[in-house]
Amino acid sequence: MKKLDILVIEDDPAVRKLIRTTLETHGYGCESAEAGETGLMLALSRNPDLVLLDLGLPDMDGLEVLRDLREKSNMPVIVLTARSEVSDKIQALDSGADDYLTKPFSVEELLARIRVIQRRLAVTQTRLPGEEVFVNGSLKIDYMQGMVYLDGEPLHVTPSEYRLLCVLSRNAGRVLTYRYISREIWGNEWESNIASLRVFVTTLRKKLEKSGDSRSYIQTHVGVGYRMLRL
Ligand code: CA
Repeated sequence: MKKLDILVIEDDPAVRKLIRTTLETHGYGCESAEAGETGLMLALSRNPDLVLLDLGLPDMDGLEVLRDLREKSNMPVIVLTARSEVSDKIQALDSGADDYLTKPFSVEELLARIRVIQRRLAVTQTRLPGEEVFVNGSLKIDYMQGMVYLDGEPLHVTPSEYRLLCVLSRNAGRVLTYRYISREIWGNEWESNIASLRVFVTTLRKKLEKSGDSRSYIQTHVGVGYRMLRL
């Protein structure tokens, strides 16, 4: 697998050093910036495979960095946040983050999230054969093109939301446990993924609610998981 070049935008020297050491130990290329503006500049000039972006930066809000970056690039971004409120995470995901890590996070957690991005980058061009188009009510998913349509209009979803939609739609009608979905999306079954999953389902539901059809596509099974209903 190609060695990823990763840009870290983080003002805390200790966290930056930990990430750099971890990445270099595991064979990743690493560059770092201590502030938003220099980070943004590096991201656009060096075009890294992945950006790890701290939300609390000295010169500008990390969300602002993320939005600026998204105007110009689709490179994967994992947001690092000390903020525990779900709304901040939703905001980061809505602004185009692919994933987030809440501080303090473990080295293993960081590496696992990076591997998820790495796998996604590796399989983007080689989708599994099988059903090519999924239609359910106003929702249409073109697996070949990686496109989602609602009422015939293209619907913007983040890469993580798309993976969730694929897992749910390919298993439409079945109740899927948090563990199952977590394994499908992240390749592991960590308890902490349940919180991430809730955030992704929330943002995805909000987008699907824009449909003229008021019925709910994703059913919650409290304490168990989710099911995509066949409408
Ligand atoms: Ca910070």
